[in-house]
Amino acid sequence: MLKINDLHASIEGKKILKGINLEVKAGEIHAIMGPNGSGKSTLASVLAGREDYEVEQGSIEFTGKDLLELAPEERAGEGVFLAFQYPVEIPGVTTINFLKTATNEIRKYRGEEPLDAVQFLKRMKEKTSLVNISQDLLKRSLNEGFSGGEKKRNEVFQMAMLEPKLAILDETDSGLDIDALRIVAEGVNQLKSNENATIVVTHYQRLLEYIVPDFVHVLFDGRIVKSGTKDLALELEAKGYDWIKEEVAAAQ
Ligand code: ADP
Ligand code: MG
Ligand code: MG
Repeated sequence: MLKINDLHASIEGKKILKGINLEVKAGEIHAIMGPNGSGKSTLASVLAGREDYEVEQGSIEFTGKDLLELAPEERAGEGVFLAFQYPVEIPGVTTINFLKTATNEIRKYRGEEPLDAVQFLKRMKEKTSLVNISQDLLKRSLNEGFSGGEKKRNEVFQMAMLEPKLAILDETDSGLDIDALRIVAEGVNQLKSNENATIVVTHYQRLLEYIVPDFVHVLFDGRIVKSGTKDLALELEAKGYDWIKEEVAAAQ
């Protein structure tokens, strides 16, 4: 589904990604871990097509297409979803209206008819029960005054509604409490299928107690320096990142 080959990227002239290689197949959950500042959020942003980043080298193939050729909206249309890619708060726009627009933009990109009100409500009903979100929350302005847990639930709901092929979750926020992490994890587990894939970016192992990744990668100084299974996450939790740094230094 996703093939990243020798990806180099920079921001404001500063080189951040220095040769990323990663392959994600449908049905898989990949976790990307690594110390602060190693480039995890940069990788997520480059995948979603944020404009401040310059890709200098390498390629990203997504379902056979050259992702780097596509604008962010086109990537969304192809089925790439980045949690946080949407504005944090939109006063006056309810989650429902926001999602109706986003859904129909994606459908339009795919050459499908827009959902009418009845169809949209039907899909909403299905997904609200799936991710266990309250109707009240959906009628409020997007993210305005939402608690951390409500924001997370809302994100998971967006993901459920938009049915991405590839969901990228960047759990940057170390301030997330365990309940919020659980909400994200339950959502990811619920939505997992043989047709979609998830990349979970996380600094901490905690999240992976609830989401069981098929693969764990360590990103360090702009490169994936180690890959393994969930045992690697446990090892990182127990030993920290210093031994990785030493291994990298010794190999150079
Ligand atoms: P991570 O998510 O792994 O903590 P990031 O991708 O956020 O790492 O950041 C990688 C590096 O890029 C850091 O050194 C950070 O300071 C730098 N960086 C991120 N955004 C910018 C920016 N807008 N301008 C300059 N440097 C940036
Ligand atoms: Mg960071
Ligand atoms: Mg980050």
